[in-house]
Amino acid sequence: MNKNQCSFCGRKRNEVQMLISGQEGFICENCIEQAHGIVLENASKEGFSPAENMDDLKKPKEIKRFLDEYVIGQDQAKKQLSIAVYNHYKRLLHSQDENREVEIEKSNIIMIGETGTGKTLLAKTIARELNVPFCIVDATILTEAGYVGEDVESILSRLLMVADYDVEKAEKGIVFIDEIDKIARKSDNPSITRDVSGEGVQQGLLKLLEGSIVNVPPQGGRKHPDQKYIQVNTQNILFIAGGAFDGIREIIERRLNKQAIGFSAEKLTHTDDDEILSQINAIDLRKFGLIPELLGRFPIVTYLESLTKDTMMRIMTEPKNSIVNQFVELFKMDGITLEFTPAAIEKIVDETTEKGLGARGLRGTTEKILEDHMFNIGEEEHIILS
Ligand code: ADP
Repeated sequence: MNKNQCSFCGRKRNEVQMLISGQEGFICENCIEQAHGIVLENASKEGFSPAENMDDLKKPKEIKRFLDEYVIGQDQAKKQLSIAVYNHYKRLLHSQDENREVEIEKSNIIMIGETGTGKTLLAKTIARELNVPFCIVDATILTEAGYVGEDVESILSRLLMVADYDVEKAEKGIVFIDEIDKIARKSDNPSITRDVSGEGVQQGLLKLLEGSIVNVPPQGGRKHPDQKYIQVNTQNILFIAGGAFDGIREIIERRLNKQAIGFSAEKLTHTDDDEILSQINAIDLRKFGLIPELLGRFPIVTYLESLTKDTMMRIMTEPKNSIVNQFVELFKMDGITLEFTPAAIEKIVDETTEKGLGARGLRGTTEKILEDHMFNIGEEEHIILS
């Protein structure tokens, strides 16, 4: 062993800044850096594909079980999403089969539900389980090319960024498009005047959803005219869209009543919101203002139930990273035992409901209630919230 040179690249001691000794040799800083790069690259490639073969692919029931750990209730949405995601990645494996004769088309998903009912959480949890790049974009910031705002291509810039600019990885990712209802056509008749934020954007989105090769500006935006484009094939990207679709209930009701009159003279008298929402279909969404071409690309329509008091209380305690667990953990770091009585949890839920923020507000309310305890940390050993 030569004590005066790197055993990997052979550089002499005076050619490098440091030589670190091992049992059988030396390594210089250049080789360490290079080796580190290789390790990182391989680490990011690990779990790169959601599955290499059918055996590795998680079945819908397994996916749902995983979702159950983080998302409370919403069984119908979880079931549909699990099936859709399973089929999507099955299709991906199928597309790698060179002898295939049938082309399976992709099934993007639309989730309808009030704000704070778990739409984003569902999409995020699925992506984490599958270990694929995931990004959230807000449809309201998108405008037709050439107008102020972001082009639809910027959606893919985000996904690329999350995938560390690994195009192959990004091409198998999941994009969550939030507030899709906000780009609905404003009136029922196709636009005579330009509809920059509505139909135009929907047309733009079509381009991504249809599965084409899109030129993506790496930095997003149009502020860098000289930047080179990256080509991204959107064929295998799964798009999940979410929106509250305020007023959709009346549209469904009208359709149901009409049908009822058509088939029997009896009028429907459902008043239960969730019951009505569960019957949503593409016709209603079209009436709401989504163009048929776009709806054709979202064959799966699912809905999320509004959160009841009971569900909110379960959200406080049951998920793996529930709010209660998080705060208990936080106090534990100071050696303090924190306990929430059912009455305390109920109080937090009631206060949050009053604010009308859905489950999103639970954390804020809990923070507020614990504010003094957190400020006085170190003075108490055991806190029981009641
Ligand atoms: P949205 O439907 O508006 O996308 P989110 O998924 O962002 O709502 O929900 C906001 C937050 O509320 C989540 O981060 C989560 O903490 C909580 N939450 C909402 N719904 C549920 C649910 N069904 N189960 C568990 N937590 C939920």
